[in-house]
Amino acid sequence: MVVLDGKSVYGGIAIGRISIFDKGESQVKREVVDDVPAEIDRFTTAKEKAKEQLQKLYDKAIKEVGEANAMIFEVHQMMLDDLDYVESITNMIETQKINAEFAVATTGDNFSQMFAAMDDAYMKERAADVKDISNRVIMILQGKETDGIQSDEPVILVAEDLAPSETVQLDKSKVLSFVTRLGSTNSHTAILARTMNIPALIGVNFEQGMDGKMAVVDGFEGKIYIEPDEETLKKFEERREEEERKKKLLLELKGKENVTLDGKKINLYANIGGVSDVANVLSNDAGGIGLFRSEFLYLESDTYPAEEEQFKAYKTVAETMAGKKVIIRTLDIGADKQVDYFELDKEDNPAMGYRAIRICLDRKEIFRTQLRAIYRASHYGTISIMFPMIISVSEVKEIKGIVEDVKNELDSQGIPYGEVELGIMIETPAAAMISDLLAKEVDFFSVGTNDLTQYTLAIDRQNPKLDNIYDSHHEAILRMLKMIADNAHKEGCWVGICGELGADTTLTEKFLRMGYDELSVTPSMILQVRDAIRKIDLSK
Ligand code: PEP
Ligand code: MG
Repeated sequence: MVVLDGKSVYGGIAIGRISIFDKGESQVKREVVDDVPAEIDRFTTAKEKAKEQLQKLYDKAIKEVGEANAMIFEVHQMMLDDLDYVESITNMIETQKINAEFAVATTGDNFSQMFAAMDDAYMKERAADVKDISNRVIMILQGKETDGIQSDEPVILVAEDLAPSETVQLDKSKVLSFVTRLGSTNSHTAILARTMNIPALIGVNFEQGMDGKMAVVDGFEGKIYIEPDEETLKKFEERREEEERKKKLLLELKGKENVTLDGKKINLYANIGGVSDVANVLSNDAGGIGLFRSEFLYLESDTYPAEEEQFKAYKTVAETMAGKKVIIRTLDIGADKQVDYFELDKEDNPAMGYRAIRICLDRKEIFRTQLRAIYRASHYGTISIMFPMIISVSEVKEIKGIVEDVKNELDSQGIPYGEVELGIMIETPAAAMISDLLAKEVDFFSVGTNDLTQYTLAIDRQNPKLDNIYDSHHEAILRMLKMIADNAHKEGCWVGICGELGADTTLTEKFLRMGYDELSVTPSMILQVRDAIRKIDLSK
């Protein structure tokens, strides 16, 4: 048995034979042609056929992985019509009297090298795209069409790299898992793999001679076991069965509405800590992201994450969610979430200390950087922002002033941004008690029941000794929840719960009766909460 390590792009267990992906690429020979106009015609016809194929792929991808992920095939169609690209090919055919295949291959190589050398991450990525479209045209010119899988059985597909077009046109019923040597976690292919719910690994240094061998892909641990021994195989077969059982529940509820028996609908969103959690959000069929704990970007970093780095993370999440709502909570450090480079003083009561919005309103440059990054990303999806640990109306007014400054700055720089809803977390008793006043200032509330319970009951949520009396079902909390919902609705705000209590299915009916519009829970709880909602009858 050989065990190879990689990086997981999407979890899950796959057991089957390895098939090395055949890109169908063959040597393109340079040939001299007599009839130049006929050769240009051949190229034009092949290019049009390639565009038709890409249109079909686009339609297929929209259905399978959503519009934002399908966009790449629209981009590829446009690239095929790019004037410089087309002129380079026709010019080569005319002046050198060469075959279309060779002209396309050479132009593809030249353009790809040019893009790769550019000092711009977006343009660099286009290098792989131009290769991909050129290869497609060459295959058509050579009369070859293959989906790259040389097997009738479902396989673990192993490749150097996979282009998005290759990934999406694969017959999914034949693919148990993707394993590649190259690729990045945020490449389109990785995003597509995640969206298709197929266990996938990248960065695997696979060896020669693996084709046809039995293997196990552990997408949770990022490992592939080649020719596994009996014990390993048995262990993973059991694990796979368990996953199948979970998937069954998932499949039954996937695509279904979060609606009660008497027709009341509610938004069911997911909580995430970073980009890598989005796959889980999609596979569990959440309607959006109700809490993106952005402080994890800061916790994972050795220094203040730059605007650009944050922008990329927020943009990736927004794009991957393809227009579904993404609520980013601004930095909430302090208390249990300590970050060395912030050099926070040691405090006697850190949970009640210098934390969250208090730091942001004191060290405004940090706040502005984050807001700029979020607003810039809002151009690429549906982003809302919410602010943690609010205790007063004046804080909210100050925040709104800073948000206006940031928007003006972006306007003056000609940087686009979208419509962004502004909300606050209600997680202090003060905020709950003045929720009527706060509701006049914002678009929505999201109740952080973890902190609200801690502050209302005066019980440190980190203290294991007090765990047995840390009671989120306390009447004080339930009364506050009702009051918050009523006050929100009086001012036309929508209201949700993003603390752990939101996933407590013994309370789902209560929350619905209180009028909550949204629940945001850990991704793995989405379907269980959906199940609970669908069994409730509010008319009784
Ligand atoms: C909460 O307090 O309920 C909450 C959602 O925020 P966090 O758990 O990150 O403090
Ligand atoms: Mg909190």
